[in-house]
Amino acid sequence: MRQSLIVARVVSILWLLAVAGPIRAAQSPTPTAPAARVTVIKAGRLVDPEAGTATPNQVIVVEGEKIKAVGANLSVPPGAQVIDLSTMTVLPGLVDAHAHLGLTYKEVPEHNYYYLTYVMDSTPLRAIQAASNAMQMLAAGFTVVRDVGNNALYVDVALRQAIEQGWLGGPTIIPSGPMIGSTGGQFRPTPEMYRDHKIMFPEYIDANSPDEIVRAVRENMLFGAKTIKLCIDCQPWGYSVEDIKLAMREAAKGGCLVEGHVQTPEGAQRAIDAGIHMIAHGDALTPEHHAQMAAKGIFLNGTDVPQMPYAAYGGSDEEFAATVANLKDAYEKKVPVTFSTDMDYWNERMRDPKTGKWLNKGQLVLNFLMPWQKAGIPARDVLKAMTIIGYRAADVMKERGPIKPGLYADIIAVPGDPLTDIDAVRDVQFVMKNGTVFKKDGVMLAEESLHPGPVRGWNRR
Ligand SMILES: [Zn+2]
Repeated sequence: MRQSLIVARVVSILWLLAVAGPIRAAQSPTPTAPAARVTVIKAGRLVDPEAGTATPNQVIVVEGEKIKAVGANLSVPPGAQVIDLSTMTVLPGLVDAHAHLGLTYKEVPEHNYYYLTYVMDSTPLRAIQAASNAMQMLAAGFTVVRDVGNNALYVDVALRQAIEQGWLGGPTIIPSGPMIGSTGGQFRPTPEMYRDHKIMFPEYIDANSPDEIVRAVRENMLFGAKTIKLCIDCQPWGYSVEDIKLAMREAAKGGCLVEGHVQTPEGAQRAIDAGIHMIAHGDALTPEHHAQMAAKGIFLNGTDVPQMPYAAYGGSDEEFAATVANLKDAYEKKVPVTFSTDMDYWNERMRDPKTGKWLNKGQLVLNFLMPWQKAGIPARDVLKAMTIIGYRAADVMKERGPIKPGLYADIIAVPGDPLTDIDAVRDVQFVMKNGTVFKKDGVMLAEESLHPGPVRGWNRR
């Protein structure tokens, strides 16, 4: 290249930098902090789910997005908006520790075979399903949802970002990105779909060697995953103890906990031996596994299916009895069991039997209380699973969860007493997320939580 041409290039690059600098600055405003609006909540009873107690007549002061103070006789700052929940029980938001908000397999046309859902429902359609599901979950009182795979092309990450940036109201999403599995994920593809059409991605990432496992974990974290999901034994070859440990070491570099999908006793044992952070699905676990999980503090996201006419799997008396017995044993052995649903399907039976009206996502998800109730688990412990244990599994306790000064204001209220009757959480009348009221007097306030731009900051991840 000639000298004059190099000089010309350098000059033009410098010019571009000079021009681009101010433009870039102008296009990236600092996230606009919401005006430090002060809201005061008067709580008839305030639940501490960790202790399993409630204190009467408490006042919660919320400044902007966070809790400023909690106490009995706090004065109302001038100009504060007062929300009177003095006839209600106020508690922190709920957690679904295992969900797939961007997947909806159906009986018609795909016969609940979600390989077909993946082929038929586009990523954009699934992203819109996820946004709708997220709003319904928040309306039901869920302020944190772990969204762990089967989400097309990172729908879970996009959903988290849209909510974080302020486009719409929704729970704090803890996305995993695509599930990482050894050859085939959970699919049984034909050779041509697998080899010529590369059908696995984006529903799964095939990672077979140690190098591929490291690359897959890194890529998911690079693209926004906040937790890592592994297929431990989706195929007979699965992952070894060493493979799982390797994925955990790599995930730790990005601050991610690791959840393993488990469907065989052998797979469960490998995951436990590796000291995995949490196991998804309780069906294959034995009492011996539960004892080991309790000793190691491994979370169980059991995804225990209720005996409902619409349940995609099971539903028979025998299967439900086995589900209840497993959950009861895990609880009695003191495994940290979360409330988790895996509710990612839809069918024509999802109606209220009395009114014939469609059940919404929140109502469907809350029917997963059924196995907990059938197992005779006390309401206060079910509530602890739905809150504290869920926050821990979602790894959010440093910034949200409990109603404590300094944490984000994620607050819900119900007329009943969830410490003695867990069915009380089926009637969430009030929802505040990040200090914004999303639902009041049982009505969703769409205008409060929908915005035509990233009002919390375009760069929030
Ligand atoms: Zn699942």
